[in-house]
Amino acid sequence: MRCTYCMPAEGFDSVAHANILTYEEILRIVRISSQIGVKKFRITGGEPLVRRGIVELVKEMNSIDGVETTFTTNGLLLEEMAESLKGAGVKRLNISIDSLKRERFHKITLTDKLDKVLRGIEKAHEVGFNPIKLNVVAIKGFNDDEIMDFVALAKDRPYHVRFIEFMPMRENSWDRDQFMACDEIEGVIKNNLPQPLIAVHEKNSPSRDYSIDGYAGRIGLISPVSRHFCDSCNRIRLTSDGHIKSCLLREGEEDIKTAMRKGATDEEVKFLISRAVILKGAGHSLGDSETPLENADRPMTQIGG
Ligand code: SAM
Repeated sequence: MRCTYCMPAEGFDSVAHANILTYEEILRIVRISSQIGVKKFRITGGEPLVRRGIVELVKEMNSIDGVETTFTTNGLLLEEMAESLKGAGVKRLNISIDSLKRERFHKITLTDKLDKVLRGIEKAHEVGFNPIKLNVVAIKGFNDDEIMDFVALAKDRPYHVRFIEFMPMRENSWDRDQFMACDEIEGVIKNNLPQPLIAVHEKNSPSRDYSIDGYAGRIGLISPVSRHFCDSCNRIRLTSDGHIKSCLLREGEEDIKTAMRKGATDEEVKFLISRAVILKGAGHSLGDSETPLENADRPMTQIGG
């Protein structure tokens, strides 16, 4: 897929294989970070399910004491892979879907495969993933008239439908007129729903979650632009080329791959990971000024959402 809010239509320069972390390196980092308190590992991308041997990797990750794995995926390969992911011990799935209308889905992803993604979601539900989180980037003038259709997905199924504010990132198609704040999305839902939204507090969750009487699932609002949640964000990111980023929206990285390839001991790697955590900034500045994101050193495709 080439989601236009995430990457240029013509794609991007690929990274040489030698510059990508090997599975052995990833497993070493997972093992070491699990020893200093990191327990949840979300695999994202790019599209994580296209990487060869990914099921074996998560199986190995899950065999490390205390490690929980989850994925964020575009859902295209789930019809075939959901069962083996479940079998490999994956705990939860986040699936991105920004329109339930075929033509719009094609326009935003540049791929005419809405039905395949819907079948993938269904398959993930069938094999027992629960909850399944559905990520919807809210784009004014594009999918804002589908908000209630997405909310309806949470009625009979335990899906968590999460609306994400459209973030201006390097190399994406952001436009101020297309921005829709979570408060506005919440207003649309409240105006159209007879039942009240009931706040559900989830520790360290990036989303404000709500349950609705009579609904099996939930609704979530993720507001990286209009209402920062930095004070409760405990995430750090490891890029596929081996750099630790302690904030998606700030520059600054710890090059852990080079250190490992130069022979760093486990204690030294532990130190680098800890330093990245300690130096995690108090907040980011997205949405604070008219400038989109002047301090972004990488496009989203190189970090993972
Ligand atoms: N390929 C996978 C997928 O489609 O979910 C994982 C990578 S994708 C970058 C991860 C998440 O980031 C998706 O839910 C996507 O919608 C979100 N995302 C990407 N660009 C975004 C933007 N500019 N604003 C808000 N969310 C964005």
